[in-house]
Amino acid sequence: MAEFTMELNDEQKEVRDWLHGFAADVIRPAAAEWDEREETPWPVIQEAAKVGIYSLDFYAQQYFDPTGLGIPMAMEELFWGDAGIALSIVGTGLAAVGVLANGTEEQIGTWIPQMYGDANDVKVAAFCSSEPDAGSDVASMRTRAVYDEAKDEWVLNGTKTWATNGGIANVHVVVAVVDPELGSKGHASFIVPPNTPGLSQGQKFKKHGIRASHTAEVVLDNVRVPGSCLLGGKEKLDQRLARARERAKAGGERVKNAAMATFEASRPAVGAMAVGTARAAYEVALDYARTREQFGRPIIDNQGVAFQLADMRTSIDAARLLVWRASWMAINGKQFTAAEGSMSKLFASETAKKVTAQAVQILGGNGYTREYPVERMHRDAAIYTIFEGTSEIQRLVIARTLSGMSIR
Ligand SMILES: Cc1cc2nc3c(=O)[nH]c(=O)nc-3n(C[C@H](O)[C@H](O)[C@H](O)COP(=O)(O)OP(=O)(O)OC[C@H]3O[C@@H](n4cnc5c(N)ncnc54)[C@H](O)[C@@H]3O)c2cc1C
Repeated sequence: MAEFTMELNDEQKEVRDWLHGFAADVIRPAAAEWDEREETPWPVIQEAAKVGIYSLDFYAQQYFDPTGLGIPMAMEELFWGDAGIALSIVGTGLAAVGVLANGTEEQIGTWIPQMYGDANDVKVAAFCSSEPDAGSDVASMRTRAVYDEAKDEWVLNGTKTWATNGGIANVHVVVAVVDPELGSKGHASFIVPPNTPGLSQGQKFKKHGIRASHTAEVVLDNVRVPGSCLLGGKEKLDQRLARARERAKAGGERVKNAAMATFEASRPAVGAMAVGTARAAYEVALDYARTREQFGRPIIDNQGVAFQLADMRTSIDAARLLVWRASWMAINGKQFTAAEGSMSKLFASETAKKVTAQAVQILGGNGYTREYPVERMHRDAAIYTIFEGTSEIQRLVIARTLSGMSIR
């Protein structure tokens, strides 16, 4: 087990500085343009692939950093550059984590490389769980997966929504119902390989923020995938379903489903993204407050402004510490007995929303225009309290974990 330390080691500092350089030199200068275009910034993803930031190797290296700080550090720096572009760069990771969490070694080796492609031909991947009537309430999912034993194929039907990279992905990971009697315990995850007939993009959403990240519906119309595309394999699924049926008969001990395992593993990482956006806005506000003069002195000379900056920085540092703690716990196999992963996501995302709003206020009229980046950062920050479980759902998870009660 890695000792917990507040200090990054030399290797981590080197990676952080390298990522920061890419975020400052490549991502940040492109941010306003791709926000306006509301399109996936393929050239930036390609740049990231060329230098090795958009690759399985890089994420695996950060993911398996024994201190747990590799992923949060990377997320913070990239999202400091710009949230929309950074999500286009790391969105594939959510699908990859879905495969890492539930797939066999063979599935991991086959599909994850196809999610990324290579520097000459970059690809992205999508994780499709949410549906029009199943957002926070994952258990009410309707997309069905039915096994065709004669052909050893699964047949998927349904509509997914809000999928990051949905429809433009090379590989889609789709969560579907295999046994409707079991609620969320009857779900399983499937790979939909490139160019599979029946999968199409529905509506592409025009969003409030993170507009450089593609978000769309994914329609599944009699999509047939080989039996080998069921993540974890049929034998494991049958065993899991049998256990769930036994438990349901016995009165129901809660078990985690495939989608929830994915969300648990990724929550502190989302907290780190929020820390990156918050830090970016805070830095702009601090700079501005030092140089903008009113009443013959810099506005930071007023406690009303300086104290806001003090609060902003304090919250950002507190958020980072919660994220680092949860990430350290995750890599060291610690039990999340107080839902520390959810805690970190809740606090960091609420901090990003608040800090970016404070930054807009400190910049006054300029903060309200697209001439200054805090306007975009404020719009971007609103996503963190919504995706990967809303703030209310994080509170529900924390409260249930603390109390052991099924709080509604
Ligand atoms: C830009 C973007 C990207 C996304 N990317 C993906 C992706 O890649 N893959 C994917 O599968 N999904 C993705 N999502 C979906 C996202 O995870 C959902 O939007 C989120 O889980 C909330 O679901 P919902 O939008 O249906 O809101 P709802 O569940 O309808 O919630 C609406 C409101 O009610 C509140 N609420 C609901 N239930 C309760 C309760 N029990 N107690 C208290 N309050 C409650 C919520 O907190 C929220 O404030 C993305 C969403 C967005 C906006």
